[in-house]
Amino acid sequence: MDRRETQAPEELQPQEEAALLAQQAHRRRARFRFTLAVFAGLATIGWLAGQLLLPDMPTPVLSAKPAPSEPALAARWASLMPMQRTHESDSLVAGDSLAALLARAGIDDVEADAALDALRAVFDPRKLKVGQKVRIFSEWPNNIPADKRAEDNTKRFAGFDFIPEPRQRLVVRRTGHLDFDAVKQERPLSERFFFTDTLISSSVYEAARGGGMSPNLVVELIRLFSFSIDFQRDMRDGDQLEVLFPRRFDENNQLAEEGDIVFAALTNRGKRYAYWRLANDDGTHGYFDDAGRSVQRLLMKTPVDGARLSSRFGMRRHPILGYTRLHRGLDFAAPRGTPIYAAGDGQIVALGRNGDFGKYIRIRHRNGYETAYAHMNGYARRLKKGVRVKQGQVIGYVGSTGLATGPHLHYEVLRHKKPVNPRDLEVPAQTSLTGAGLDKLRMAQTAIGTRINALATDDNRLHSLPRRSATAARQ
Ligand SMILES: [Zn+2]
Repeated sequence: MDRRETQAPEELQPQEEAALLAQQAHRRRARFRFTLAVFAGLATIGWLAGQLLLPDMPTPVLSAKPAPSEPALAARWASLMPMQRTHESDSLVAGDSLAALLARAGIDDVEADAALDALRAVFDPRKLKVGQKVRIFSEWPNNIPADKRAEDNTKRFAGFDFIPEPRQRLVVRRTGHLDFDAVKQERPLSERFFFTDTLISSSVYEAARGGGMSPNLVVELIRLFSFSIDFQRDMRDGDQLEVLFPRRFDENNQLAEEGDIVFAALTNRGKRYAYWRLANDDGTHGYFDDAGRSVQRLLMKTPVDGARLSSRFGMRRHPILGYTRLHRGLDFAAPRGTPIYAAGDGQIVALGRNGDFGKYIRIRHRNGYETAYAHMNGYARRLKKGVRVKQGQVIGYVGSTGLATGPHLHYEVLRHKKPVNPRDLEVPAQTSLTGAGLDKLRMAQTAIGTRINALATDDNRLHSLPRRSATAARQ
């Protein structure tokens, strides 16, 4: 035995001690390098297995990495021989099922049943909706050339996959004769922001669509401004629209999900209405103006969609009775059956036939306001006197009951029992931010401003800022 190893370190000569320390350090470094090499090797093998054997893992285009699958499953899949794969796509139609879709693709009943059983362990296929796209995979051993596949009887059903929600993919894959595995994969999405800055030439809808917004997002946008702007009366050529919204893309750079509007501004007749989105503590969100007032007003301006104002508030000749009298509300012409919304949160104080008004509802709101709805075709289910309703909730449908020439909504707003013109109403905001809430709003405004400035470079204008509508307006 070496003397140095049996002796306590403090008895060593200084030179010996230095040599020993150097030796120990060298061993430690060598051990570390070895461990590192083993880990790197394992990672490379794992990566190769993932690249070569897992189904259709697309090359990540963005920073997103392919979703990791369960290790046990990967091991089972890794033991399979490498196969050539191909896929075809189909979508669920009305009255369809996944089983019917597989049968349509010519998949053998027994194999389809086995695959569906595997799926049911992790996902209920009855949750799938009409239009759901499904990819069905076929595979061949690697030694069959492409031109011989058609007549080759080694071709077999390899499984299927689908994306039931933007962040999730379900993969069902054959692992043996009639064995299938199903796995839920997370789909990493990357978010990119888009800024629409456009002049309004015909309608807000067309300007927003021309600016690259999806139809659903445009509906949100119109809802957002419908509390402060009367689209039927107030819009003017040359009004301007600015909207910031995110979109989320999958690893193939395909659009996977539309995000919410985070900022919207509408300059109407020189007055700018701007709203910022703020997340509430309970997971919901709201939109606020620069002063911290919620965009949500006590009452909506128009309690029916797609309606045309057919009669204004004030003195007019009655179309049926023939004499002049005060029209105490607004008439909105709309097709029979068009939903009517509660203009604000409140309690139903009258519901039923009311003489010339026909089928009629009156709602009491806060601050002494009441709204009334007449000539309805029918009421929404489960409504009766005393029931509380939410703003925007459907309470009934446009009709022509009572004394009416055609289907329309007669809408009245009363303030302390006196009829007022809904169009001239400055209804108060539902909530206003103070203190910490206002601080949060300022932070959101700064962050959103920075984002818009970053997007508004010439480079971005060319690539992600479609300005068709604005261009059309300038021509
Ligand atoms: Zn009327």
